Amino acid sequence: MVSLLALASKPLYDREMLELRSENESLKLKLFWKDYNVHKLHKAMQSGNSFPADAPYCQCQTCVHFKRSVRPRKKGPLHGGASGGSAPLYDAVCKFGPWFASAARRFGLTVKKASWGMHYDSTQLMEHDSNPELEVLDLDCHLVNTDGHEWTHFTYGRRLWGATTADSPELKKLSEFFRYLQRYCLVGDEEFVGRKRRGWP
Ligand SMILES: [Zn+2]
Repeated sequence: MVSLLALASKPLYDREMLELRSENESLKLKLFWKDYNVHKLHKAMQSGNSFPADAPYCQCQTCVHFKRSVRPRKKGPLHGGASGGSAPLYDAVCKFGPWFASAARRFGLTVKKASWGMHYDSTQLMEHDSNPELEVLDLDCHLVNTDGHEWTHFTYGRRLWGATTADSPELKKLSEFFRYLQRYCLVGDEEFVGRKRRGWP
């Protein structure tokens, strides 16, 4: 009688185990996206502009606005005592954006350019843990740049948000890219760019 009961409840037990396992997997994914979502990549960019050895430390107006660098110094007084020339010396062209894209490619991340616009129907935009503030795009790539070469606006493509397990090799590429950008990051909050520049030898 007991063994019959055990036999009868085995499929139920197996199904519960399967459900638990998949619940566990989706929790691990949720945790992954907490650390590596689009918003966190914006933050990692702030250190990426200055810390890795080959980083350009771009001081264009866009990089300053998005806190990827501090405002450049103003021009000093001109020779002869004139007080003119007090505008900050911004870099004219953004060097960070192109560097960011090529660094991402070095880590095996594919990059596509796209613009938020009429040619995307609503089925291509969806909410996802990987971009809690905006949407992800159904494009076959890892990163989607939606705003020119300065990389001020971007989201993740299907190769990232489509991952079904936190152990996915595609997600590993992303986390390694993060580690590279943050390699020498000493202070973890939004204000670190200014503090680092002041306190760095
Ligand atoms: Zn720049």
